[in-house]
Amino acid sequence: MTRVKIKEILSLSPQGQEVIVKGWVRTFRNNQFIALNDGSTNNNLQVVVDFNATEETILKRITTGAAICATGKLIASQGKGQTVELNATSVQIIGDSDAEKYPLQPKKHSLEFLREIAHLRFRTNTFGAVFRIRHSLAYAVHKFFNDKGFVYLHTPIITASDAEGAGETFAVTNFDLNNIPKNDKGEIDFKQDFFGKHTNLTVSGQLEGELGAMAFGDIYTFGPTFRAENSNTTRHLAEFWMIEPEMAFYDLNDNMDLAEELLHYVINYALEHNKEDIEFLNTRLLDEEKQKPQNERSELNLLEKLQFCVTNKFERITYTQAIDILKESSHNKKKKFQYLINEWGVDMQSEHERYLVEKHFKKPVIITDYPAAIKSFYMRQNEDGKTVRAMDILFPGIGEIVGGSQREERLDKLEARMNAMNIPTEELQWYLDTRRFGTCEHAGFGLGFERLVLFVTGMTNIRDVIPFPRTPKNCEF
Ligand code: ATP
Ligand code: MN
Repeated sequence: MTRVKIKEILSLSPQGQEVIVKGWVRTFRNNQFIALNDGSTNNNLQVVVDFNATEETILKRITTGAAICATGKLIASQGKGQTVELNATSVQIIGDSDAEKYPLQPKKHSLEFLREIAHLRFRTNTFGAVFRIRHSLAYAVHKFFNDKGFVYLHTPIITASDAEGAGETFAVTNFDLNNIPKNDKGEIDFKQDFFGKHTNLTVSGQLEGELGAMAFGDIYTFGPTFRAENSNTTRHLAEFWMIEPEMAFYDLNDNMDLAEELLHYVINYALEHNKEDIEFLNTRLLDEEKQKPQNERSELNLLEKLQFCVTNKFERITYTQAIDILKESSHNKKKKFQYLINEWGVDMQSEHERYLVEKHFKKPVIITDYPAAIKSFYMRQNEDGKTVRAMDILFPGIGEIVGGSQREERLDKLEARMNAMNIPTEELQWYLDTRRFGTCEHAGFGLGFERLVLFVTGMTNIRDVIPFPRTPKNCEF
């Protein structure tokens, strides 16, 4: 007989068949009822122990957190809350867990506390649900692109370029930090470093992704990216995963269509394949909402919000239209924004993005054609000489979830822009070569994976949707 996973067991019709289960004890009641979980589903299997026929020493070791193996017959359950249960004929202890010392007690713990014991938090209902959904979303992303014939391209983690030109990178070196080689001028001599030049962890795979698109047509990357931004927010991590498709012969509209289709697809995938987990999180959120005053509660619950998002087209507006809406808003006039909107050209803060999405349109919004001055060098310049073919997708409760653009494919315009922004063209000759040899219209975007998981799980802090979060002053586990 082989072990059967609890997810499968719970779908069987009980006919007294013999099964073996292995898992971890969540609770043990009345010396008789074990709630057993093996991670395959949020639901526990009720294992009923015959305490008269079981040695006292074994019963004592059935404690919260212990790993056990139970063999028995599957029968219809008399009790409430489950349809099947296992009538155990034998229980073996695989790994003991000292109930006094085990940090997870059978009660509700705060998310903050669980973050401190992130090595054990997968064993809770909430994090079990979150990380099964995270898995499904990752799989759905690959399936979506694979089915469309995109090539999954692995762009480098260590790079000598900083795609954004923003500089918020982590350096990579194998210098002895107590004895860093200097040149005649007293500057750090990177020639002596491992790669013979200054290198860092990637902030984006886009530039390399474009090289792939110029050969395969459609590619995507899905990998970790690193930003040393010292922003301690609920939406920023120092290490996060990003999905970056890049497509030849796409303009900005094609780009937006693809991003919208991708988001609809992956959210739908989770709704279909993670029904129980989403329902669990939905109930959890509803309980939390009950603690809040009526006017602070969300209009839609998690399930409704996800359904709404997959059945409605996203609103598409230009930056200029967005600024007009914000400028004219009663929020702005009553000075309710921390940063008031007075003129065209300012960068939107997350309070403005959220106003547009949550208050004004009440649905996801795509903003296009941003001022060139606040966007990256590679974005295609519009005829007006002021704006670029950029697009950001804003989601309720999240703010920016996608950032993308049509890329500047004209060599002269691109070089002029790089010179104006003091971006050294010598170091990016390999990138400029795509514009020299068979250049073409192309576009792409970056979807922050954790922001997607935040949205689908309804969690509010990005630290709770990545297994081991890296944030300023925090790199545990
Ligand atoms: P933000 O304004 O929110 O900092 P950004 O403009 O820096 O975002 P991009 O450089 O366009 O973002 O990156 C593409 C996507 O990656 C974003 O839309 C977002 O979903 C995600 N992202 C960016 N920075 C982070 C971060 N520090 N942690 C998690 N996700 C991030
Ligand atoms: Mn940023």
